Amino acid sequence: MENNINRITQAEQYLLDKIRLGNTQAWSEFVDRYRGRLLSFARSKLLQAEDAEDTVQETFVSFIKNLQTFRGDCALETYLFSLLRRKIVDTYRSQKTSHICLIQDTFSSDAEESASDPFEQIAGHEQTASWYFKADEQLNLQKNALTDALCEVVESLKESLNFRDLQIIELLLYCHISNKDVAKIMDINDKHVALIKHRCIKQIRGHIETIPSGPSSAEFENLLTDIWKMQRFSCPKRSTIGAFFLGTLDKNWHDYIDFHINKIGCQFCLANLEDIKTENAKKKDTKFQSKIMESTVGFLKKP
Ligand SMILES: [Zn+2]
Repeated sequence: MENNINRITQAEQYLLDKIRLGNTQAWSEFVDRYRGRLLSFARSKLLQAEDAEDTVQETFVSFIKNLQTFRGDCALETYLFSLLRRKIVDTYRSQKTSHICLIQDTFSSDAEESASDPFEQIAGHEQTASWYFKADEQLNLQKNALTDALCEVVESLKESLNFRDLQIIELLLYCHISNKDVAKIMDINDKHVALIKHRCIKQIRGHIETIPSGPSSAEFENLLTDIWKMQRFSCPKRSTIGAFFLGTLDKNWHDYIDFHINKIGCQFCLANLEDIKTENAKKKDTKFQSKIMESTVGFLKKP
């Protein structure tokens, strides 16, 4: 299952290596690839268009400055979003605005604004920080085992097209909301939610039986949320979001992605969707432009 984990890909690594060597073309390609989705994200959070552009620009500056220390623990897109979120928080702080939602507008509950490291920001919960961020080789192995286990659970739900359970697990762990609220959203009873959660946690816990002093139950769930946010197991690929936009997905998948983007309101996927829409409109514009040109150019006065 390792392939499905959102760590940095070989192609991305190759591009980064070129950037590290100072290749301008590679850097330009990189900026071009991520600029649009970051801008959509910033625009959804900031009122002023100039502020949005400024923060995206600062994000790229920050990325290039810290390139040597980027560890590749999560996907590039997730890393860029985390840098951008920090810039947005800084902007809000300087404007003295009291609250900003960082992950999901709909269900976000925790205040993650104060973390200084972008990875801490993704991680959030202070309770787990001590356990999760302990620089301990043994724990690192366990963290990787947990990441693999959680990935396996999510992938097997996708493979069996069990989108209902996936939605429940996603609401519980990615959005970190209570059994009771999940039951309400999914229109099923609390006991059923608890059962599905229990099954899932048991399956995952099976992978870390060897931890001598493992985290408590609440800590464990927070930890799974941290890992999910970092790896974004349930976020569809950009190409899938594109197919969703074009309406070419199977109904099962279409409904699931609709849930992820529109019901959960995953800000990262929303930003991608907005960017895809803009790209598409531009393409249409260019096509329309050529169509007009083709049909009119012949009428132009010959020099
Ligand atoms: Zn997402």
